[in-house]
Amino acid sequence: MHRFFVDPDCIRDGRAGVDGAVARQVSQVLRMRVGEIIALLDGTGWEYVVSLNSLSPSRLEGEVVSESFLSGEPDVSVTLYQGIMKGEKLEMVLQKGTELGISAFVPVVCHRSIPRAGGGRADARLKRWRSIVREAAEQSGRSLIPTVEAPVSLRDALEQARGVTLMAWEGEHETGLREALSKRLEQARVEGLGLLVGPEGGFEPAEVELAMEAGAVVVSLGRRTLRSETAGLAMAAAAMYELGELGTPGDAAGDPLAELTGVRSKEVQRGQRE
Ligand code: SAM
Repeated sequence: MHRFFVDPDCIRDGRAGVDGAVARQVSQVLRMRVGEIIALLDGTGWEYVVSLNSLSPSRLEGEVVSESFLSGEPDVSVTLYQGIMKGEKLEMVLQKGTELGISAFVPVVCHRSIPRAGGGRADARLKRWRSIVREAAEQSGRSLIPTVEAPVSLRDALEQARGVTLMAWEGEHETGLREALSKRLEQARVEGLGLLVGPEGGFEPAEVELAMEAGAVVVSLGRRTLRSETAGLAMAAAAMYELGELGTPGDAAGDPLAELTGVRSKEVQRGQRE
């Protein structure tokens, strides 16, 4: 089913009315017909399944046949603090991270990050990053569009981080990701989880020190050195797995409603409209 984020005002009293790009996409590109169904997401977590009853390149209208809330969102808020990399590697991380369930992306300017042009180029880049995340959210069935912040310093990233922060450092040989994560699952679920990954050149020891002083837990991702763009995604996938997000709703360990009913506590499913 094709899904589109639209302005919340497009849905009112069980009816949908959408103008502009989405109408053009549905009628001209996807060549959909009256009677077919699409999903419209209002960006606040609600998803509406809509049966089309009128369609033109400039406007579509339909009737809401069912709605659900946060059905595509994980039960844990994961922020990826990604050391800025060369070229367009971040774009792949944004797309795959959105599919995996990351809720916020914060590009981090580290000591060994390759400097990038600022000004208008930076604005255009941020705009492109945000459109990549929006498209990935539509494709993967997210109920919310993850946020993408403008690049920040490592110090600022550590200041804004909340809950559990895990810093991946290949110089760490005591604590592994799984050990650190499994001890902090409940805290992560309640307060959020931050994953901190360095650029291609890695973190400076002083940056690791800074992170530890700020309360981050430094973890190893194993004996192999992962590319920067691999590390964040591997951590995100591992976190989602540990939290039961890579499975059926009943897998969401620690969610009594899910274990009982198979419907996660945050997911409010409403059946067919009367
Ligand atoms: N020092 C690395 C090297 O020798 O190539 C450069 C850093 S690595 C390519 C990029 C980032 O991925 C690191 O800053 C770290 O955050 C993460 N990373 C890669 N492999 C890791 C591992 N085995 N354990 C922990 N972090 C790792």
